[in-house]
Amino acid sequence: MLFLPFLKQFDNYWENHFIMNLHEYQGKEILNNFGVEIQRGIVAKTPAEAVEAAKRLTIDTGTSWHVIKAQIHAGGRGKGGGVKLAKNLQEVEQIANQIIGMNLITPQTGDEGKKVNQVLITEDVYYPGDSEPNEFYISVLLNRATGKNMIMYSTEGGMDIETVAKKTPHLIFTEEIDPVMGILPFQTRRIAFNLGLSGKAFKQMTLFVTNLYTAYIKSDASLFEINPVLKTSDDRVIAVDAKVTLDDNALFRHKDYIALRDIREENPIEVEAKAAGLNYVDLNGNVGCMVNGAGLAMATMDLIKQAGGEPANFLDVGGSADAERVESAFKIILKDPNVKAILVNIFGGIVRCDRVAQGIIDAYKNIGTIDVPIIVRLQGTNADIAKELIDKSGLDVYSAVEFQEAADIVQEVLS
Ligand code: GDP
Ligand code: MN
Repeated sequence: MLFLPFLKQFDNYWENHFIMNLHEYQGKEILNNFGVEIQRGIVAKTPAEAVEAAKRLTIDTGTSWHVIKAQIHAGGRGKGGGVKLAKNLQEVEQIANQIIGMNLITPQTGDEGKKVNQVLITEDVYYPGDSEPNEFYISVLLNRATGKNMIMYSTEGGMDIETVAKKTPHLIFTEEIDPVMGILPFQTRRIAFNLGLSGKAFKQMTLFVTNLYTAYIKSDASLFEINPVLKTSDDRVIAVDAKVTLDDNALFRHKDYIALRDIREENPIEVEAKAAGLNYVDLNGNVGCMVNGAGLAMATMDLIKQAGGEPANFLDVGGSADAERVESAFKIILKDPNVKAILVNIFGGIVRCDRVAQGIIDAYKNIGTIDVPIIVRLQGTNADIAKELIDKSGLDVYSAVEFQEAADIVQEVLS
């Protein structure tokens, strides 16, 4: 049973940590570079810039109407009032003024919402004469069950795909891509066919999907989600939205993508931890943990669950666990107001336990007041000496050598 929560935690860790989310405008730029037709736009940080952008777009695309789109790392912006149509330059200015700086709450931001720092001004690609614009959903992502990338697509674009999956699952199709062969013509034709297309639109869709898949592979992405993909009445196929997630372990191959990171959109404690060289993921529980090694950190989170707690974070301080790192780790953990206890679980292999214990004591004294109990479990070289150091330190720190002992103490301090 120890294994199940372990996997669940790992999922959380994986999903939050090895990815870098992009803004819509950045995702569209990548798509454009790979020949995917996009709804064209220009980013603006002020209403004046928005008007300039709109004028530019009218010259470049011939559009007379514009769409103002809040740029935040969350979907569902339309529903929250973050996507609006402007029919003249005055409206562009008004709407930009209203959206820039607003706290946008969407079904994906949580109740606290997200501050809008910039907007994308785009051409209007929904022709006024189009009584029924054709909106599709198309994404590329990894199917973890088979280990292959797949195209997931649906005729029901423009709305929340989770809702489509729940209410009309038969309207979601998938096409798995062989990693060696890549996407094949019969597959892109099948997609265009299932989307009900024919003639020029059919051809455009096969090109769209081929280029989209290439963009996904070449940029080392873990997700490209285009919702909606619009088919216009004159049979163009256009990416109207773009949610792109890159694999940040592959960023070394894409030096130019590193600048696309917008840390204003990320969890501030995680950003700070990253700067301190700590591997930290914020979770929702009440027991903070500090561990050396990712595997042990995962096992420690299981231990906390078994003891009746919930981990407040994942934190790998790395192999050395020296006094400086321990101190910055304590400071990071203590920023989370939900933390009711801290479990330190260190295995002394290369690093000696007594040195870690001394580091903990020094860090504790340096920080001054730590008003939650700390349970320290040190195992490995010189574990006994370490325990003695902690026990004699006179601080509010409980020591343990065995895993179970530590769990029991956690249970005790929580109750
Ligand atoms: P999301 O709500 O965060 O997914 O943002 P989207 O980029 O998907 O935009 C939301 C909705 O705005 C789309 O589903 C469209 O219905 C609408 N929209 C986007 N672009 C245009 C446009 O050029 N013209 C018009 N009239 N509507 C648009
Ligand atoms: Mn969308």
